[in-house]
Amino acid sequence: MGSRRDFLQKLSVSAVSLPLIYSPANLFAADSEPYDGPKLKVAIMGLGSYGTRVAKAMQSCKRATLVGLISGTPSKIEKWKTKYGIPEKNCYNYDNFDAIKDNPDIDAVYIITPNGLHKDQTLRVAKAGKHVICEKPMGINAKEGQEMVDACKAANVKLLIGYRMHFEPKTVAVIKMRKEGMFGTPKFFQGQSGFTIGDPTQWRLNKELSGGGAMMDIGIYSINGARYMLGEEPIWVTAQETKTDPQKFKEGIDETIQFQMGFPSGAVANCLSTYNMNNLDRFFMTGSKGYVEMQPSTGYGPIEGRTHEGPLTQPHVTHQTLQMDGMAALIFDGVQPIVPIDGEEGVKDMKIIDAIFLAAKTGNKIEL
Ligand code: NDP
Repeated sequence: MGSRRDFLQKLSVSAVSLPLIYSPANLFAADSEPYDGPKLKVAIMGLGSYGTRVAKAMQSCKRATLVGLISGTPSKIEKWKTKYGIPEKNCYNYDNFDAIKDNPDIDAVYIITPNGLHKDQTLRVAKAGKHVICEKPMGINAKEGQEMVDACKAANVKLLIGYRMHFEPKTVAVIKMRKEGMFGTPKFFQGQSGFTIGDPTQWRLNKELSGGGAMMDIGIYSINGARYMLGEEPIWVTAQETKTDPQKFKEGIDETIQFQMGFPSGAVANCLSTYNMNNLDRFFMTGSKGYVEMQPSTGYGPIEGRTHEGPLTQPHVTHQTLQMDGMAALIFDGVQPIVPIDGEEGVKDMKIIDAIFLAAKTGNKIEL
C-alpha cells in the first residue's frame, strides 16, 4: 500500500506541473469521486476477440460508454445487444454504417477489424463526422496511415490509435523516470515480441487482410516500445528475416524478423518479432545511469518489471479501461497522454514497418 500511496503522491505532484498530461493516476485519484461530466459514446466495429475484451473493459469506464455496434454477424449483434443493453437503432452492418452520420447517440467508432480493412472503414467513419479510434496497426503501410490522418483532418474529427500501453501505469511510470533522467542517457533497447500463431486459415496469415505477419501484429510493440522507452525517433533500420514454414507463412507474411534501429543520439535498438516462439514479451533498456527491464512488457497484464533501484510497484488496472477513459479525456478536454496516441503516432510506426520490410528484402540499411 505504501508504494501505491507514494505513486499517487508522485503523480499528483507532476499533475500540478503538467496539467494537460493525462496520467492513470488522475483516474485513481478520481475513483472515489463521482463523475458527472460528458461521456464519450462509442460504437465498436468488429465484434471479435479484441472487441469483446474492449467492450468488457468499457463497463468499468467513467468517461466512455459503449452505445453502438457495427458487425457483419447478426447473431453477435443479438447477443451483444442483450448483454450490453444496446438499442436496435444503434446497430449497423458493414453495408449501412454510413448512416451513423444521422445518429447523435454515437460520438466515436472504435474500429477493431482486420488491419487491411482499417483504412476504408476509417475514411467512411470520418465522412460520417464521427471520431475514429482505430486498432494497431492503423493500416497496412504508411501511405494508408497518412490517408487516414488526412481524411480525419479534413472531416475535423479525431483519429486515435489503440496504443493501450501509453496509459498503462508501469509503462507511464518508466517513461516519466526516463524523462526525469533516472536512467541517464538512454543507450540501448532490446524488445522481444512474439507468440506461436495457430490456425493457418486465420486472417492474420492472409496478406490482403493483415498486410504482413508477426511484424504488423506483435512486432509493432517492440517498434513503438523502442520509441517510447528511448524517447527518440529512429534514423535507420536494418533487418533479417527467417522463415521455417513457407506453407503457413506465405509470401508477404513474415514469420520471424530480427531488426535493429539507430537513433540520433547514438542509441541503438535490437528487436525480435515472431509468430513462431512463445514467451517473448520483454523490454530492456539501459542508459548511462541505470536500467529497466519489463517482462511481460506489453501483454494484457499485470506488467512486471524492475529498474536498477528495485521493482516497479504501480498498480495493475485493466489497460483498455484506462485507454478509453484517457481517450475521452483527450477528446473532451484536450488532455494528452504521456506519449501521443494520434494518427501521426501511428504513421511513425507504419513508416518504420515499411522500412523494416524493405531492409529485410534487400539486405540494405534503410535511412528513415
Ligand atoms: P478477430 O478475428 O478476433 O476479430 C476481428 C473481427 O472483425 C471479426 O470477428 C469480425 O467481426 C470483423 N471482421 C470484419 N471483416 C472481417 C473479415 N473479412 N475477416 C475476419 N473478420 C472480419 O481479430 P482481433 O479482434 O484479434 O483483431 C482485430 C484488430 O484488433 C486487429 O487490427 C488487431 O491487430 C487488433 N488487436 C489489438 C490488440 C491490442 O492489444 N491493442 C490485441 C488484439 C488485436 P464481426 O463478425 O462482428 O463483423
